[in-house]
Amino acid sequence: MEERKTIVIATRNKGKSSEIRQMLSGYPVTVRDLNDFGPIPEVEEDGETFDENAYKKASFTARVLGLPALADDSGLCVNALEGQPGVHSARFAGNDATDEQKCAKLLEMLKKAEDRNAAFVCVISVAVPTGATLTYEGRCEGVITSEPAGENGFGYDPVFYYPPFEKTFAQLSSGEKNRVSHRGRALREFKKEFEKVLKWIDLQMPVQEKFSCNPDMGA
Ligand code: IMP
Repeated sequence: MEERKTIVIATRNKGKSSEIRQMLSGYPVTVRDLNDFGPIPEVEEDGETFDENAYKKASFTARVLGLPALADDSGLCVNALEGQPGVHSARFAGNDATDEQKCAKLLEMLKKAEDRNAAFVCVISVAVPTGATLTYEGRCEGVITSEPAGENGFGYDPVFYYPPFEKTFAQLSSGEKNRVSHRGRALREFKKEFEKVLKWIDLQMPVQEKFSCNPDMGA
């Protein structure tokens, strides 16, 4: 029988890990997240790119736990703001700002902007304890509205208009959003290659010596 590998999702967000768990059902892997382990130090997301942050989270978790780990980093890049808020999307309006406050700050900054094009970006990084990583990226292009619309989703969804559907992300069902979103796209790229990823993990993971317990040996 094929041995089941464990892969740890470097998040405490149960929604994120259950989405990934669902996607990988049917593969010989046991998916865990950080809630399954004791306290481990937080990784500071101070990278200048999504790649850097995703790599940091995945490789740190893999090293600390001695298991293959997967992490993602995502955000909104706005043309008129030269790619900002980008990696600062979560704390764009201060550490304790609500999603409404973040959207309001963005709309205020874009009040006079003619170019309202933007893209959500998501990078997924898979790492093993020795430090090697694989990276997957997903993008979704859209336009920033002049006022929020819709109740679904989170973050900047109410101000991100997706032209092919003629709706904001917050007006889409979660199924519709997953089909076109940056995260959905990155996850599908990752899933497409998952068989290869499993082989890569096998090659990268340190081989564990097997000791037999023989009572006749020793003493
Ligand atoms: P993280 O990668 O989960 O830490 O997300 C970073 C930040 O980017 C979030 O706090 C949101 O503000 C924003 N963001 C990322 N993905 C989405 C999305 O799908 N919709 C709306 N906002 C998002």
